[in-house]
Amino acid sequence: MEETTLDFNFWNLVTYDLGIDLGTSNTLVFIKGKGIMIREPSVVARQRKVTPAGNNIGQIIAIGSEAKKMLGKTPDMIEALRPLRDGVISDFDATEAMIKYYIGKIHHSHGVIPKIPRPKVVIGIPSGVTEVERRSVQEAALVAGAREAYLIEEPMAAAIGAGLPVMDPQGQLIIDVGGGTTEISVISLGGIVIERCLRVAGDEFDEAIINYVRLKHGLIIGTLTAEEIKLAIGSAVPYTTEKQFVARGRNMEKGLPQSLKLTSTEIREALAPVMTQIVNATIDTLEETPPELVADILRNGIVVAGGGALLHGIDKALSEATKMPVWIADDPLTCVVRGCGKVLDDEQLLRKVKVVGGLR
Ligand code: ADP
Ligand code: MG
Repeated sequence: MEETTLDFNFWNLVTYDLGIDLGTSNTLVFIKGKGIMIREPSVVARQRKVTPAGNNIGQIIAIGSEAKKMLGKTPDMIEALRPLRDGVISDFDATEAMIKYYIGKIHHSHGVIPKIPRPKVVIGIPSGVTEVERRSVQEAALVAGAREAYLIEEPMAAAIGAGLPVMDPQGQLIIDVGGGTTEISVISLGGIVIERCLRVAGDEFDEAIINYVRLKHGLIIGTLTAEEIKLAIGSAVPYTTEKQFVARGRNMEKGLPQSLKLTSTEIREALAPVMTQIVNATIDTLEETPPELVADILRNGIVVAGGGALLHGIDKALSEATKMPVWIADDPLTCVVRGCGKVLDDEQLLRKVKVVGGLR
């Protein structure tokens, strides 16, 4: 599953059809017949060069992990940004650069693919992306050399990747807790019946930790540290044995570096308000769902995908609040990209679930 070095000399001659998960936090690329070959943060770093009209025309400096290392550490002349952070395309040029970079990287041209390899590409996009933005994402893939570019909504891709029978006349509820958004969707007969997109997910968990540590302990920490704390000791319900984590930050009063021991109990308290928002949105979605479908969901259970599914006890918290069975999808971080990969292989499914796409 980890990124593997590609055998470019050989690959260069062949066209690889791709599934791409354009997530708010992470971009993953699935190569048909090979599996998941790229997993990188959805971050772009570029020079700040703003035109009088306010458009940034600066050169792209780094994409992916290289760019993530620069988040919060850039000098004035450089900016590192997450172009899809809130589940909408906040920066189209950066999004386009990302798509072109990954398609190009796989076909070894670092830019536009040469004439011959013209892959078919299925891209998963957040459901909040507008029609106009979808067209531009498709266009970016075509400009990058794709022969055919299709877009599918991430909740659908996640459900397919999680192995749910999306074509059945059966209600399925999938919650995808990503970085910028939580998408709660009811799926039946190959379509999304109800969809709720909450701009509250992994990033808000991190923010909640930052605020808690500042207010309770007078310690200022950055987002990367907050995420580290969340991964190490975050939880939605108590651990059997509570945990500790030593975080480093800057003392608010003295302005000096300071270490501080945090417990999983207090971090759970910090995360609770964010967790409540996710729980309430799930309950609201269930209330809007037609009764026949609710009966199906009660039988099939709710499925949680996305990186947030890995928060300790999120299944238990959701299950207690909704009184429904809750399952964590297998390998929740890769559901969307695996779903895109499955759709690549299945024309009939693709025709049913695509929201944009076709031949140039
Ligand atoms: P997206 O699809 O929006 O790009 P992902 O599904 O890749 O998002 O999930 C990224 C989010 O999941 C980040 O906020 C990250 O901190 C969070 N995450 C990853 N692993 C864990 C974990 N073990 N516990 C809690 N949160 C996690
Ligand atoms: Mg996602």
